Amino acid sequence: MLTMPILLLIVTTLLAAQGLASAFLLRRERVLRQKAEIEAGESRARLVEIQELARIGNWEFDLINDQIRWSAETFHIFGLPPGSEEPEFADVLLAVEAQDRPQFDAAIERAITAGQPYRLDLRIRTPDGTQKFIHAQGSAVYGAAGTAVRLIGTVLDITDRKREENRLAEQARRDTLTGLANRRYFSSELEHEIRASRENANPLSVCICDIDKFKHVNDHYGHGAGDEVICALARCLAEGVRRGDLAARWGGDEFCILFPRTRGADVQICVERIRQRLESLVFTTESGQQYSVTGTFGIAELSAGMSSADLLELADQALYRAKQQGRNRLALAG
Ligand code: GH3
Ligand code: MG
Repeated sequence: MLTMPILLLIVTTLLAAQGLASAFLLRRERVLRQKAEIEAGESRARLVEIQELARIGNWEFDLINDQIRWSAETFHIFGLPPGSEEPEFADVLLAVEAQDRPQFDAAIERAITAGQPYRLDLRIRTPDGTQKFIHAQGSAVYGAAGTAVRLIGTVLDITDRKREENRLAEQARRDTLTGLANRRYFSSELEHEIRASRENANPLSVCICDIDKFKHVNDHYGHGAGDEVICALARCLAEGVRRGDLAARWGGDEFCILFPRTRGADVQICVERIRQRLESLVFTTESGQQYSVTGTFGIAELSAGMSSADLLELADQALYRAKQQGRNRLALAG
């Protein structure tokens, strides 16, 4: 049988133990909360580090309050000091290069009105005038009312990759010896310009140029001397044509010039200047021998129903005729 004092002792001990337990639980909860906050802070810091390393910036556009929030890396990509005043949407739009603005604007519009996420490569210009390439992704967050309340997205600086891609694309368009456009690029530009000339009812002409007795240069002065002559003619062409014309090396000692929006008769003046310039050059071999070269030129103008192959064939026939007439001259087809 338990006496009253023993009963009291048990109750007080139990109460004290309960108090201790709940104090312990409270303290433990506080410690866990602090730990979770520290961990969240650390993972936020890690995310920022990773994003900086990967050059990814993130942003949020609150459509209700019309407020934009940028991460430090987004400021960095747009060439602004992190922590500077948050931009307005109009500023972001202005940072995008004018050529890319309509598609960016349309993508944002579609994300808001149709819930379509977007992925775009855009050109931007930073306040110091530097052009950068970014990969932009974004999507809308919809509220309970079924309308977009926020846009969220990332921007990735892809300038280095784009520059390398552009460099390789440019290289693929060039002839390695002369640096002029190559045959493939010339052909695609010719197709493009023929379409444009048909649509706008503009004239268009081409000229094919071939070095006279070039085998003789190779045979007598060596292949290196031959290369030098090819490069010299390439310079004459590049310097002799107008902006908008395209000079290219077709292959071997043969070159082509595309004259958009120009009649064959008007091309003759320009081609005659190139012919004279080539004729006036004097080459000197390593052993001091001097020699000159000449070129022959065939010109043709596009007429209705003609394909690019027909046009080049016509120019080639004119060139052949001029070669037969004694070389170092030009002939206009037709
Ligand atoms: P024609 O007046 O009839 O044009 O006579 P040609 O001797 O110039 O004859 P053709 O145009 O057929 O000769 C082209 C020569 O160009 C043949 C080839 O050995 C040479 N050749 C082709 N590519 C190169 C090159 O990259 N460098 C050099 N040095 N020679 C080349
Ligand atoms: Mg030749």
